Amino acid sequence: MDKTTKAIHTRYPLPDAYGALSMPVYHVAAYEFADADIMADAFCGRVPMPDYSRVLNPTVMHLENKIKELTGASDVIAFTSGMAAISNALIALAAAGKNIVTSRHLFGNTYMLLEKTLRKFGVEPRFCDLTDLEDVKRNIDADTCCLFLEIVTNPQMEVADLRALAEIAHAQGVPLVADTTIIPFTHFNAGKLGVDVEIVSSTKYLSGGATSLGGLIIDYGTCKEFNAKIRQELIFNLGGYMTPHAAYMQTLGLETLCVRYERQAASALALARKLKELPQIKRVNYVGLEENPFHEVARRQFGETAGAMLTIDLADEQACKRFINNLKLIKRATNLFDNRSLAIHPSSTIFGPLTKEEKDAMDVLDTTIRLSVGLEDVEDLFADIKQALDAN
Ligand SMILES: *Cc1c(COP(=O)(O)O)cnc(C)c1O
Repeated sequence: MDKTTKAIHTRYPLPDAYGALSMPVYHVAAYEFADADIMADAFCGRVPMPDYSRVLNPTVMHLENKIKELTGASDVIAFTSGMAAISNALIALAAAGKNIVTSRHLFGNTYMLLEKTLRKFGVEPRFCDLTDLEDVKRNIDADTCCLFLEIVTNPQMEVADLRALAEIAHAQGVPLVADTTIIPFTHFNAGKLGVDVEIVSSTKYLSGGATSLGGLIIDYGTCKEFNAKIRQELIFNLGGYMTPHAAYMQTLGLETLCVRYERQAASALALARKLKELPQIKRVNYVGLEENPFHEVARRQFGETAGAMLTIDLADEQACKRFINNLKLIKRATNLFDNRSLAIHPSSTIFGPLTKEEKDAMDVLDTTIRLSVGLEDVEDLFADIKQALDAN
């Protein structure tokens, strides 16, 4: 069955008492049981029945089940945010004395999670160059608990060669954990490329117009004891399970995900091509452009589409700030893949708290503007960018 059809029609296994066409929002904390034995089975995880909504909730289970059907994963676990999904996954794998092999090209809070929060518990982040496979090999040792990466980094737009990196990690018995937020799971299969645990900030494409926060762990079942650690320990103890209201919003978002994404990715490519013609723009960085150094690997892994995020570089930081101030249609905001297009100057905002040395090490330039392309008409977007540059 086609993914769009599946996204709409996968139903929750239990019939609704009233035949409701969309999943009702179970805004409840606890559930009643028929007898003590069923209650014991539910509490001990022998039957997947909700007992308390910190751990299981029918509306959230419905979203999880739909994504499981779409990805072929062995389990999908939904969290309150992308960061909750990332922190749960890394806490499940790490322990004091272990190390995480990764790159400095990371989402700002993920970098801080590794550099500050987890380091405090004796977990060592090892930042290496993921485009240099020898460097990755050298950094993995007997204490490595995972290789963690983002499939397309933001704002550098570096694309990881998943098969090659999975091969290196697996040869040493190390799982590959990939944050795939930038390309939706409906358009490529991370599991088939060797990813053991896929992580998604569902706040982005999935929520359907930035309606809610959410995160997903998509577990391909290849990482020993990982699932039990999350479902039977961390979900209880860390309390980051998705809320039923967010799950409802994101289930609606999932129904239109493919249609929205395909338009946004097509507009991003059309816009990237047009922006190359403007003299004030020093560089357009989009992996969908043929001349981009990561174009081939992106195409091989992700297929026809290359996401809806691109960056442009202007002369200097002041030019970037004036450009942002001149925008009339595109919104000055963080976030990605809203229905409306968004622009941000990452160096002074998301990476603002970091030192100049840290920004240099992460290749975050003060000349870069990040654009998230929405559903608007592409000519309208181009006209707004052009007038903002001309007014500079
Ligand atoms: C937004 C984002 C996150 C964090 O997700 P939240 O839902 O905001 O917690 C993690 N990784 C990437 C690549 C992101 O874009």
